[in-house]
Amino acid sequence: MSTTNEEWKQKLTSEQYRLLREKGTEPAFSGALLDQHEDGTYHCAGCGAVLFSSEAKFDSGSGWPSFDRAMSEGVIEFVEDRSHAMVRTEIVCKACGGHLGHVFDDGPSETGKRFCVNSGSLDFKQEQHD
Ligand code: FE
Repeated sequence: MSTTNEEWKQKLTSEQYRLLREKGTEPAFSGALLDQHEDGTYHCAGCGAVLFSSEAKFDSGSGWPSFDRAMSEGVIEFVEDRSHAMVRTEIVCKACGGHLGHVFDDGPSETGKRFCVNSGSLDFKQEQHD
């Protein structure tokens, strides 16, 4: 059974709800994870699915956390987005349908990809060293 809008409103902060469930965008350079450079994993703030590794993160200069690849194939869904008079590829958490951001073909690494993600759509979990 899928989660209803009311259940999401209970579970998420209003900002997370706006980003994840209403396809919002946080202002550039505003996100808490933009300058996060520790080793760890980035999870969907909606459902906890592991979406990105810190190894894939790079500074794109765009003002949003950027990654050159997903954690594994199949964790992210790609959706054509024709809003705002542009054709872009929206990226969505495959597990819960939460909006993450967009992916572009101008990445600097061998993947050629730049996953441009709202900080507020993600939770960071630092790697435990012992
Ligand atoms: Fe999710």
